[in-house]
Amino acid sequence: MRSISVFGATGSVGESTFDLLMREGGAEAYRTVALTGGRNIERLAQMAVALRAEVAVTAYDDCLGALRDALAGTGITVAAGTQAIHDAADRPADWVMSAIVGAAGLVPGMRALRHGGKLALANKESLVTAGQLLMATATANEATVLPVDSEHSAIFQALVGEDLNTVERIILTASGGALRDWPMERLAHANVTDALAHPNWSMGARITIDSASMFNKALEVIETREFFGVEPAQIEVIIHPESIIHSMVGFRDGAVMAHLGAPDMRHPIGYALHWPHRQSLPVARLDLAALGGLTFLAPDEARFPALRLAREVMQTRGLAGAAFNAAKEVALDHFIAKNLGFMQMAAVVEVTLNRVSSDCSLGNAALTLEDVLQMDHLARIRAVEAVKMVKGS
Ligand code: NDP
Repeated sequence: MRSISVFGATGSVGESTFDLLMREGGAEAYRTVALTGGRNIERLAQMAVALRAEVAVTAYDDCLGALRDALAGTGITVAAGTQAIHDAADRPADWVMSAIVGAAGLVPGMRALRHGGKLALANKESLVTAGQLLMATATANEATVLPVDSEHSAIFQALVGEDLNTVERIILTASGGALRDWPMERLAHANVTDALAHPNWSMGARITIDSASMFNKALEVIETREFFGVEPAQIEVIIHPESIIHSMVGFRDGAVMAHLGAPDMRHPIGYALHWPHRQSLPVARLDLAALGGLTFLAPDEARFPALRLAREVMQTRGLAGAAFNAAKEVALDHFIAKNLGFMQMAAVVEVTLNRVSSDCSLGNAALTLEDVLQMDHLARIRAVEAVKMVKGS
C-alpha cells in the first residue's frame, strides 16, 4: 500500500487532494502517515479520521487542545506548532503533498525530500525562495519533485518525451485575475472583496488576491526558471482569460505544445499522484464547440509591476527570491488588513528589495537553508518598514 502525507490538508489544494484520495478508496487504498493544517481543526480531524492518519498536526500551539479533543479515542497521534509540522515531514512517506501556503511550506518540503520518494509541490514559494537548494536536495536524495501548480504541470506534461535542449520558450498563461478589466485609475482603490472575485479558479484567499495583482504569475515565472532550468528570457507570460490553456512550450522547430483542460486543480494533483501513469480523473471534459473561442492579450507591465520585479529577481537570483516572496507576503497581509492599497503592494516589494540589497549581497550563489530563512526574516522586517514609507509617501 502506498504511504502518503498531506501538508496543508485543510486548504484549497489540500481539499482537492483529499477528494481524490477518498474517491480512490481512502484508507483502504492509502496509508496516511501525516495530515497537517492550521486553524481549521474540525476539518483536519474529520480528514484524519476518514483517512485513518497516523498523526494529525496543527501549525498553532493554541489549537492543540481542540485537536486533541476532536481526535480523542481515535488512536491518532496529535501535535502542534511549527516544529511538530517539521517533525511530521521527517516521517517517511512514498508521496507527499506540499500545500501549505507561503514560505512556511519550505522546510516541510525540504525535510520530506530527504527520504527520496515523490514530492507533489503546490507550494510555489519553496521554489521561489530556495529553488536551487530544493532541486539539489531532490537530486542528492534521488527524490522526484512533481509540479502541482496547473501551469507547471501543463509544462511538465508538454515536455514528456522531449529534449529540454530543444525548448525555445515557455509560455505561461494567466487569467488576469479578478481585476483584469478594471481601468488603471480604479485599480488603486480595489479592495479585498474585489480582488477575491476570481473569474475561473476557486483557490485559497491569498493566491486569489495574488492572481489579481499578478504576484502569483510573478512567483510562477520564477518557479518556471527554477524548476525547468530555462533562462529568464525564455519565459513569456500571456493573458488568457478563459483559463483553458494552462501553459505552452515552444520548441526550436516552431512547434508549440499546449495543455488544455477545465480549470480544476484535481487534474494537476491527480497527475502528480499517479505519475508517470495517467488515471481517470473526475474533472469536467472540455466542450470546445461550446467554448467557441480562446482569447489572448499581452500583459501590461504598468498594470502589473510584479512581472517586472520577477525579472529583476531572476537576474539577481541567489537570495533575491526569498526577499521578494517575504516582502510580497507582508504586503499582502497589510492589504488584507486594509492597511495598504492594492497598487501599493508592488511598491512595498520594490522598496524592500532595494533596502535588503543594500543590507547584503542578494546574489549569493552558495545558499543554505539557514541563509534563506535568515533572508526571509530580514526581508519581513524591511517590508514592515517599507509599508510605513510607502504609506507616508
Ligand atoms: P489555502 O490558504 O487554501 O490553504 C493553506 C493551507 O496551509 C491550509 O491547510 C492552512 O491551514 C495551512 N496553513 C496556513 N498557514 C500555515 C502555517 N503558517 N503553517 C502551516 N500550515 C499553514 O491555500 P491554497 O490551498 O490555495 O494554496 C496552497 C499552496 O498551493 C500555495 O503555495 C499556493 O500558492 C499553491 N497553489 C494553490 C492553488 C489553488 O488552486 N489553490 C493552485 C496552485 C498553487 P488552515 O486552513 O487550517 O488554517
